Amino acid sequence: MKVTPWEVEGKINYDRLIKEFGTKPLTEKLLKRLEDIVGELHPLLKRGIFFSHRDFDWILDEYKKGNRFYLYTGRGPSGHTHLGHLIPWILTKWLQDKFDAELWFQLTDDEKFLFSQKLELEEANKYAYENALDVIALGFDPDKTFIFTDIDYAGELYPQAVKVAKKITFSTAKAVFGFKNESNVGQIFYTSMQAVPAFLPSVKKGKNIPCLIPLAIDQDPHFRVARDVLPKLGYYKPAILHSKFLPGLGEEGKMSASQPQTCIFTTDKPDEVKKKIWNAFTGGGGSLKEQREKGGKPDICPIYQYYYYLFEEDDEKVKEIYTSCKSGARTCGECKKELIKRINSFLEKHQEKREKARKHLGEFVLKD
Ligand code: SF4
Repeated sequence: MKVTPWEVEGKINYDRLIKEFGTKPLTEKLLKRLEDIVGELHPLLKRGIFFSHRDFDWILDEYKKGNRFYLYTGRGPSGHTHLGHLIPWILTKWLQDKFDAELWFQLTDDEKFLFSQKLELEEANKYAYENALDVIALGFDPDKTFIFTDIDYAGELYPQAVKVAKKITFSTAKAVFGFKNESNVGQIFYTSMQAVPAFLPSVKKGKNIPCLIPLAIDQDPHFRVARDVLPKLGYYKPAILHSKFLPGLGEEGKMSASQPQTCIFTTDKPDEVKKKIWNAFTGGGGSLKEQREKGGKPDICPIYQYYYYLFEEDDEKVKEIYTSCKSGARTCGECKKELIKRINSFLEKHQEKREKARKHLGEFVLKD
C-alpha cells in the first residue's frame, strides 16, 4: 500500500493508515454528537466512508460554544473531475447546509504543474475552472462559497504562504513528503500554499475562526505540517474529516484519472459509462452457474462499492444488494445494468447543472 498526496497504490488498509498517519477513528460516539446537533447523519458518515478525523470533537465543542467554523476543501486540477472527487465535496455541501458555513475551495493549478511531467501551467489552470463547474453543480451557496486557483489568487495567497514557508524546514518537508535531491524547489515550497486557506478567512476577518477540512486521506500529510505551523502564526489548527477512496473499476486501488478506463468522469457520455461498467472487474463467479451456486463476493467488487458509496441511499436496499450477491440470487449482468442506469441518470442531471454553472462562475470565483 502506498498513500501520498500524489500517489495511491495497492490494497488500502484504512486501520493501518489511522495508525501510520496518527489520526483518530471517527467513532459512533462522535457521530452521535454530530447527529444530536444537526438531527441526522449523511450516508457517507453512517456507512464509514468518512472514517477518521483530527480534532472533529474540538470543532463540535467550539460550535456548541457559539464559535462557528468555516469549511475548506479543494482539488488538484490535473484533468476532468471523476466520481471519486465528488465524495468529499458531497459531504462538504451537506455540512455547509447543516451548519450554514462558508466554504473556501482551493484549486491547486500550481501544484499540478509542479508535480506533473506533462501538464502545462495553462492547462492546469483551464482544468481548474472546468472542475469549478462540478463544484458549483453540486449546489453550493454562492453567497457563502469562494472558489479560487492558486495562480489567479496568488496576490492574496502568497504573502500568507511565505509566512508558513518560513516555519517549515527542508528536513521536515523531506521527512513528510519524501523529497529527493532531484525534486524541484517549487515542490518543496508548495505545501505552504495548501496551508493558506486553513487560516486565510481568519486573516481577512481579523479574528481566529475554526476551520474544518473534509478531504480524502491522501491529502492529510499537508495538514499534518499545517497543523504544526499554524499555532506558531497565532491561528487554530484546522480540524479534518478523512474519507476513504472510491475504488477504481479494476481489481484494486482508488479511482484514478491516470487510468481513464477504470474511472467515470463527470463529463462522460452514457455510452462511455456503459462500456466502462460493462468491462469492470467484479466479485462474481467465473460462470453464471458457479455464481448461482457459490454466490458473489461483494466485499471485493467495485460495482457493489459504487452502490454503497454513491448510488443507493437506502440502507435496507444496500444490504439487500449485499446479501443477494452473496447468496447468488443476483447476477453481475443485472447488477451492472442497474448501476449504468443510475450513474447515467445522475450524470445527465449533473451535466445539465454543470453547463448552467458556466454562467455563474463569476458569482463564486475569487481573483486578484
Ligand atoms: Fe458485484 Fe453485483 Fe456481481 Fe455481486 S452481483 S459480484 S455486487 S457485480
